[in-house]
Amino acid sequence: MIFPARCPLCDGVLEFGKRGPCEKCRYSLPYVKEPVCFKCGREISDDESEYCGDCAKKPRSFNGGFPLLNYVEPAVSSVLRLKYKGRQEYAPFYAKETVRKYGDIFKGLGIDAIIPVPLYKRKLKSRGFNQAELLAREISRLTRIPLRTDILIRINDTIPQKKLSTSEREENLINAFTVKGKINLEKVLIADDIYTTGATIEACTQALKKNGVKRVYYTSICIGKS
Ligand SMILES: [Zn+2]
Ligand SMILES: [Zn+2]
Repeated sequence: MIFPARCPLCDGVLEFGKRGPCEKCRYSLPYVKEPVCFKCGREISDDESEYCGDCAKKPRSFNGGFPLLNYVEPAVSSVLRLKYKGRQEYAPFYAKETVRKYGDIFKGLGIDAIIPVPLYKRKLKSRGFNQAELLAREISRLTRIPLRTDILIRINDTIPQKKLSTSEREENLINAFTVKGKINLEKVLIADDIYTTGATIEACTQALKKNGVKRVYYTSICIGKS
């Protein structure tokens, strides 16, 4: 059985032999544009400030961020379909775009490994895949930076995040990640699907830095407004 290729943005069926976004979506990709926050890479409205609202309020221990798209349509629906409707085939498109935009920077930074934000075991089982890992795997293939899925582990699956306030959520997240075994990495790139407040990336960073990683960067398909 042959599945027709679909546009990774609007999910429209593409003409036979075509791949990637359809004509309409190709020109409506909401890329993150300059000026951006020095910390998380989020688009900011003026050149005067160095940081976005979130990063100005909360000290962040990661070293830099490389988000691809603003979290607005058509990216929102696309990423939600990737995550919840099993549209795993979108991941290579986003990886390719990420490498097109940031690949040289990743190489210039001398990143030793790409690490996807892990899912809880139970969630991984019910979903069947980790969208962050699909993205990381493809970025790794394109840049030849090694993928490491054996380092960062998600634990502490007790309290549903939705029931917590923002600060409780951050605290809960800080304890949600751990590093397995001894790692010998200096610089890593964390990959995730959506960056919202940065609490997840911060929690991953803290776990990695506690275990000897010197510099932590992240990349994400989308980033929400501050
Ligand atoms: Zn489309
Ligand atoms: Zn920021």
